[in-house]
Amino acid sequence: MPSIFSRIIAGEIPCHRIAENERFLAFLDINPLAKGHTLVIPKQETDYIFDLEDQLLADLIVFAKKVGLGVEKAIPCERIGITVIGLEVPHAHVHLIPINAIGDMNFSKPKLSFSQAELSTIAESIRTQLS
Ligand code: 5GP
Repeated sequence: MPSIFSRIIAGEIPCHRIAENERFLAFLDINPLAKGHTLVIPKQETDYIFDLEDQLLADLIVFAKKVGLGVEKAIPCERIGITVIGLEVPHAHVHLIPINAIGDMNFSKPKLSFSQAELSTIAESIRTQLS
């Protein structure tokens, strides 16, 4: 069965897309820790990030860097925190989170809630910075 992220790539499940090319996709996290919390995934479905072939992993990080710099321009913050967890969705992904303090990276914190309209506006503001 395809992962939920493969279904997002296929367009079967909606998401707020930030950036995409033939190998990678970036989109807003549905349960964000911060405004602008973005996920970056390889389109190739692999559960564990360290099982990605070296070049794909390297290129994923470079793609995430470009996206992260766009998030940083769009969302006021000290910097972009980058982390990999992968306990919930078995499809490798990098979290990009606008942060101002170490506690902003605490995944045990209650998640934020934004309306679809707000998420759409956030995604558009990041895309504008990337174009
Ligand atoms: P992890 O696997 O790194 O522990 O967490 C997976 C992340 O994916 C979570 O932050 C969760 O909110 C996000 N997520 C799970 N399902 C969906 C989904 O269907 N759409 C989006 N945009 N994000 C999701």
